[in-house]
Amino acid sequence: GYSNLTLQPEDSIFRLFGEFMADSSPDAINLSIGAYRGNDGKPWVLPVVKKAKEILLRDPQANHEYLPLEGLTSFNEAAAKLILGENSPAILEKRYAAVQTVSGTGANRIAAEFFAKFRPSATVYITNPTWGNHKKIFMAAGLPIIEYEYWNPKTRSINHAQVLATLKTALPGSIFLLHACAHNPTGLDPTHRQWQEIADIMESRNLNPFFDCAYQGFASGDLDTDAWAVRYFVVRGFNVICAQSFSKNFGLYAERTGCLVGIFGDEEVARMAKSQFAYLLRCSISHAPGFGANIVDIVFKNEALVREWKENLKEMSTRISQMREKVVQLLVELKTPGDWSHITSQIGMFSYTGLTMPQVAAIKMKFHVYMTDEGRASMAGLNEKNVENFAKAVDWVVRN
Ligand code: PMP
Repeated sequence: GYSNLTLQPEDSIFRLFGEFMADSSPDAINLSIGAYRGNDGKPWVLPVVKKAKEILLRDPQANHEYLPLEGLTSFNEAAAKLILGENSPAILEKRYAAVQTVSGTGANRIAAEFFAKFRPSATVYITNPTWGNHKKIFMAAGLPIIEYEYWNPKTRSINHAQVLATLKTALPGSIFLLHACAHNPTGLDPTHRQWQEIADIMESRNLNPFFDCAYQGFASGDLDTDAWAVRYFVVRGFNVICAQSFSKNFGLYAERTGCLVGIFGDEEVARMAKSQFAYLLRCSISHAPGFGANIVDIVFKNEALVREWKENLKEMSTRISQMREKVVQLLVELKTPGDWSHITSQIGMFSYTGLTMPQVAAIKMKFHVYMTDEGRASMAGLNEKNVENFAKAVDWVVRN
């Protein structure tokens, strides 16, 4: 039986992690993984999360019952307010549907299935490059995908002209997968002016925005700044679907904490959408996991903890931008050929360095620096101990 089975090739990012783990050099630097590290190079449990865990542990009411089908209701409401803003008309007019998902990945998947069901002839437009899982998730839901150039390798900036041209010629009714902030992997977001231009064309051509928001608060250190694009589209009157992840901004990677939020024209449509989201959850995961949602919920319900969370976010984003500045400063000191200012103009977890695949392979061999093939480096993997070696590796490889 199963004579049709073949070996599924290993995901390159997990293969790279395996190679790093097998590397015995004390100088090995892992810049492949998209998870925050402190200046000591170790995973960081947010202090606010530690406090919330203690509160949960002491709560005599806490139990291990199933959550409702839509997930933890108060968590969902708070998640919607987080992305839309407390006083968003969509919140006040109850024009939104929010359900708890298996983190950002699960929110993407439920959104993909929702589109497959209610926009069955739509094509999904994704940026090239994008987060490696986008294509897989939307293909798995049976939706046709078109990639368009987002990164201009010559200028190491957004190919905004191509973005606009793609919008102008896209099939009507198409879905555009947009990164709410800190585009993965390039770290480059449109300016407000550019978002406006994008929205203008999308509005006139009846295109559907789908936002993937995996870095709110983690990117700039400010929750409102990072939510700007989503809020702008909502204010302009679009039906917006948004996938939220709490992996990065709460450091809850393994707890799989996420939310799918849809904003619609009126309360009735939102109610129907929510019932459909819940149905799609029922036939995939039944009930979302409780622990991470409870932790986030405890923080959201306590003003002092929210303040502390914001400080924790600042700490992470500040450390990352300091590492960006340090890399650029070291490359300037080394008189490394080329302009490296894109490293500090990019935001979020990653820098899209512009190094080529052979260069990435060469610095892995010689300097034990692990980055993904396309030259993406997690800035969170850098710290005061290893940043000089990283800069030296880059300097060496561009000269050779
Ligand atoms: N979308 C983007 C753009 C991401 O970078 C990530 C995390 N790497 C996710 C979604 C989802 O992550 P998770 O499922 O851990 O929330």
